[in-house]
Amino acid sequence: MTELSKPSFSTEIQPADTPGALGQAAELLSQGQLVALPTETVYGLAADARSHEAVSRIFEAKGRPAGNPLIIHVDSVGMARDCVVTWPSAAAQLAKAFWPGPLSLVLPKADLIPDIVTAGGVTVAVRCPVHPVMRGVLAKCSFPLAAPSANRSTCLSPTRAEHVVDQLGGRIPLVLDGGACAVGIESTVLDLTGVTPTLLRPGSISLGQLQAILGAVESARPVTDAGPVKSPGQLARHYSPRAKLELGDVPAAAIGEASEGTHVIAREPAPPAWPSERWHQLPDNPEGFARELYDTMHRCDQHGAEIIRVQPLPDTDEWAALRDRLTRASTGK
Ligand code: AMP
Ligand code: MG
Repeated sequence: MTELSKPSFSTEIQPADTPGALGQAAELLSQGQLVALPTETVYGLAADARSHEAVSRIFEAKGRPAGNPLIIHVDSVGMARDCVVTWPSAAAQLAKAFWPGPLSLVLPKADLIPDIVTAGGVTVAVRCPVHPVMRGVLAKCSFPLAAPSANRSTCLSPTRAEHVVDQLGGRIPLVLDGGACAVGIESTVLDLTGVTPTLLRPGSISLGQLQAILGAVESARPVTDAGPVKSPGQLARHYSPRAKLELGDVPAAAIGEASEGTHVIAREPAPPAWPSERWHQLPDNPEGFARELYDTMHRCDQHGAEIIRVQPLPDTDEWAALRDRLTRASTGK
């Protein structure tokens, strides 16, 4: 694990629509500094993807293990192609269907991208985001940005500027505040370097949507800590709140004596006996649930929750990314 950098910045939080804010971000990035900024998925911690030194600051600020590669953000297919050595027809078809948007494509890495970005690997993940703040900064920089989620390693991803400040305040010079993220969970990651395209991380763009464009798409083997992983985002423990996360229904017997530290995340209203401030009802559809999930877990943590109990989600493709995140968040504690 990379050592966490000591707090040494007074972190400025700038509303993204302040005149000059995007220019200030681009200026810092051009100087090799870090900027946290909103994307449609979650807030990202950006650095100049061409610079080993700039990217090393991301690993330091996050305490991210050097073996966990970063996703590169680009503002066009042209910029994506600068980062990779091949652009197969599958990439062209997917970019046409889903870019700009929450889909990261893994392809063979070009020399422009230093090894630190890909954790020494020969492949790189690229994505073209749709969020106007990220796009505005990319347009001003005109170089690709390495941008993992702007949280400390293994912790919950941030979907609001306040979440970034909680985790990285004092460790980075600037956070652009663009309000809450519209998607709320990390991008779908698809590996295009093998014979058959392989889903490495499910996201809001579902396996079914990818199959509709490409035909055969494999799903990477289930999450486990045993053996080598193709994508470190597959590590079992990831995306965790501070509280212990449990998956399952709240037993009827527990409802009468709702224990102090237990919060519930559900898609239905609280039973009358349950303290309403410890029951969080989220929308009963995957888009709405994803948009609110991390913010809700951040709030549970702030309220000192010891246990967050999440009621089971439907076993369908459109809920797969959320089941994946919750399974990982509940592992290893
Ligand atoms: P995040 O921290 O949310 O930006 O997630 C980055 C994740 O993207 C990693 O944990 C990996 O799962 C995935 N990823 C990035 N680059 C690669 C790559 N070259 N090969 C496979 N997976 C990658
Ligand atoms: Mg992350």
